[in-house]
Amino acid sequence: SNSSIPVSYVQYVQNSSNLFCIQTLFTACELGVFDHLDASEHPLSAMAVAQGLSTSKDGMERLLSACVGLELLTTQPILYSNTEMSTMFLTKSSPQSLYHSIEYSSNTIYLCWHYLKDAVREGKNQYEKAFGVSSKDLFEALYRSDEEMVKFMQLMNSVWNICGKDVLTAFDLSPFKSIYDLGGCSGALAKLCVSVYPECTVTIFDLPKVTETCRKHFLSDEDVRISLHKGDFFKDTLPDADLFILARILHDWKEERCILLLDKVYKSCKPGGGVLLVEALLSEDNSGPVTAQLYSLNMLVQTEGRERKGSEYTRLLSAAGFSSVHIHSAGHIYSVILALKG
Ligand code: SAM
Repeated sequence: SNSSIPVSYVQYVQNSSNLFCIQTLFTACELGVFDHLDASEHPLSAMAVAQGLSTSKDGMERLLSACVGLELLTTQPILYSNTEMSTMFLTKSSPQSLYHSIEYSSNTIYLCWHYLKDAVREGKNQYEKAFGVSSKDLFEALYRSDEEMVKFMQLMNSVWNICGKDVLTAFDLSPFKSIYDLGGCSGALAKLCVSVYPECTVTIFDLPKVTETCRKHFLSDEDVRISLHKGDFFKDTLPDADLFILARILHDWKEERCILLLDKVYKSCKPGGGVLLVEALLSEDNSGPVTAQLYSLNMLVQTEGRERKGSEYTRLLSAAGFSSVHIHSAGHIYSVILALKG
């Protein structure tokens, strides 16, 4: 009977409550609510926040009240302050800030997801509809302006500031002295890698405008054991190295491209060296985890690739020539796969 249907499920479906929640979070973040409350020495009224952020009082009152309902803020009757979690993850200056990830989701990913139906029908990403740019070259579309590229690069860093160390310590990488991070982007993993493994050097290999931006905005003079190498990993020769890291690279591409890239990596890998893949893995029976299932849809609307199972990566690595393949699922979003040459 109707009465056996959980009310929360009906609310979830009927009210699109997820849409409301996520837009509330995006808006509070982007208007600067969490930063403003963080900067204040005491809890603030809705009026004070509205004045500080130049918004309507009525709109701000409703936004703050919804944030309390979502447990993003706390309130003593009419004064608002951040929860501990909001201070840690939603303010811009926190070392674990997810601000850039939220900003990118709100302004880019969300627009692509608007066309999920078309993506499912057509089996391809939706940059043309969402942004009016050709998606013939995936990263030309992603980097359609310098500003978009910097935002993407900030997005890439944010998750590694939270779980990058776990990824890099899943296996003992200390035997590998020269490490290439293919598609290393803004360098968060490279920085963590040199701090965890004091004897290694890491080279970030990426497209020319990415390495240029990385040097300008993301690396400092202190990063002496990190260097940059501009190139196209599909077209150019890869330099020899002990270890190649490919973090969130293969999930961008169709199988043929993954095979091409892993073949090149195998050829350039020194004997006894290896390759480290970092990806969100689907379970072998496809039953989860839901994060990887949703990420795979995200890959459909945004890239040319998909999320894969551990066995699919093992098959790709073995086909390229790598012999022993070890999978470490840390219980986080991302799993780590180490495969060795010879
Ligand atoms: N590895 C980083 C991480 O996990 O944060 C970034 C992953 S991002 C999804 C993919 C990266 O691959 C981007 O930095 C992009 O610029 C780079 N990339 C894409 N195509 C490339 C190519 N043909 N040659 C070199 N780098 C490429």
